[in-house]
Amino acid sequence: MAHIPFNLPHLTGKEAHYMYEAVNKGKLSGNGDFTKQCQRFLEERYGFRKCLLTTSCTDALEMASMLCDIKPGDEVIVPSYTFVSSALAFVRAGARIVFADSMKRNPNIDAERIGELITPRTKVIVPVHYAGVSCDMDRIMEIAGRHNIMVVEDAAQAIDSYYKGRPLGSIGHLAAFSFHETKNIIAGEGGCLAINDPSLIRRAEIIWEKGTNRAEFFRGEVNKYGWVDTGSSFLPSEVVAAFLWAQFESLEDIQKKRRLLWDCYYENLKPIADKGTFKLPDLPEYATNNAHMFYLVCNSLDERTALISKLKENDVLAVFHYLSLHSSPFYKDRHDGRILEQSDRYSDCLVRLPMYYDLTLDDVRFISGVIKTAL
Ligand SMILES: *Cc1c(COP(=O)(O)O)cnc(C)c1O
Repeated sequence: MAHIPFNLPHLTGKEAHYMYEAVNKGKLSGNGDFTKQCQRFLEERYGFRKCLLTTSCTDALEMASMLCDIKPGDEVIVPSYTFVSSALAFVRAGARIVFADSMKRNPNIDAERIGELITPRTKVIVPVHYAGVSCDMDRIMEIAGRHNIMVVEDAAQAIDSYYKGRPLGSIGHLAAFSFHETKNIIAGEGGCLAINDPSLIRRAEIIWEKGTNRAEFFRGEVNKYGWVDTGSSFLPSEVVAAFLWAQFESLEDIQKKRRLLWDCYYENLKPIADKGTFKLPDLPEYATNNAHMFYLVCNSLDERTALISKLKENDVLAVFHYLSLHSSPFYKDRHDGRILEQSDRYSDCLVRLPMYYDLTLDDVRFISGVIKTAL
């Protein structure tokens, strides 16, 4: 069996064609035809009030932090078991992060326990839809509404996934997606911000365009443009948007193939999981699966280490990720000392298996076979 990497970026075949088209149009900077086409696609398919492409999900989260008007001393509730960017975007504006624990059933934020973390300084809650599986959004929106708190969905992994029939990214006031090459839909590096609260749209466009009202000027709404607010250069070039457009055109195909692989893993590994050897991904009744990730939760760090090395002996690259952010070198001295048991358990025990479009069903059966003999 040949080497099986953890991830391979999938090309649909149309990317170079559209990038060439963008180059030939002679307009390469941001907010051109491909950008608008991608934004419209996302707005129409997922019902976002407004969507702006960004150069990464991290940038979209930074825009969200600016739009939430984070000031030093404000508190932001973020799960500890997540990627750095979910917290970093707010830390840069001076926020204190109040880290939340994950649920026992899956790595998403424990919505039942958010109430305990709210103080008069709480300004934002950041639910992260881990593996593209929805957090309990009704509960989160209800708590946020009661305390007048903003909700920013970190939907980096959650493209084309749903909560009770509603697209993820369309529920919070704001939501950030990633098109990094490890996600389902890619642009190398890329992302977008979905703006669902209409009162934030005008300011979002300004922040996106370096603090200027340039977007309004090009729509003919004002007769000159200038510096009106804070912001940065968050928009990607047309070359990136052209690449992304090719991916959007194949979205159905990409999702279908990933789900096929995911189901094959599940079927092959279920008999082993049923013996208590590890836990399979958990899908609450309110959530869909966008097959972003296939993970196992082992019973201990030692068992996970043994599993990863057994896979490696067979030339299969499986990885773990997310060391609890509350105990990271950057944040541990600022954390309030609460023990976040589930976050630490996932940090120690969760392993991600290879998952990408060009993986084959035979690869999945082979990997499952290795896991069966390892444990
Ligand atoms: C990938 C990811 C990000 C960062 O996305 P970039 O586009 O690389 O900035 C943020 N949050 C989560 C949960 C992610 O998985």
